[in-house]
Amino acid sequence: MSEFDNFITNLSDHELSIFIGYRYNGFLENSREKIKKEIIKRNLSAQNLENLFDKKINTESKDKSKNCPRCGSDKLFLETDYEEKTKFQYITAEVAIETNRCRLCGFNPDKETPKNIFERVKRIFKNNKTERFIKWKTI
Ligand SMILES: [Zn+2]
Repeated sequence: MSEFDNFITNLSDHELSIFIGYRYNGFLENSREKIKKEIIKRNLSAQNLENLFDKKINTESKDKSKNCPRCGSDKLFLETDYEEKTKFQYITAEVAIETNRCRLCGFNPDKETPKNIFERVKRIFKNNKTERFIKWKTI
């Protein structure tokens, strides 16, 4: 069983509906087939999926900051981007920037441009990103 098969098999019906609603179009044919089979196996109708999709996932976790702001899932993973940052004149460092992306709906709040201005202002004060030093680079 591939990691993908394993992942979709272990989702609840609710999680599966969110996963399909946001991500289905982004998958290749092979994965779409697997998703379709999973829907049939669970006996879910399009209407079932739509009803579930409309509700946010309500996870038990006490720390809501560990949940996806879009779908409510706590299935987040650390996404790493590498950037070069100037630390001193002529010296840059390669850093790894880590942010959380939702495994279900694909949302990463740190990479989304907030629609409203207050969200943008709030972001200035809140920093969810962690920076990890990789190596120095001299030019
Ligand atoms: Zn999500």
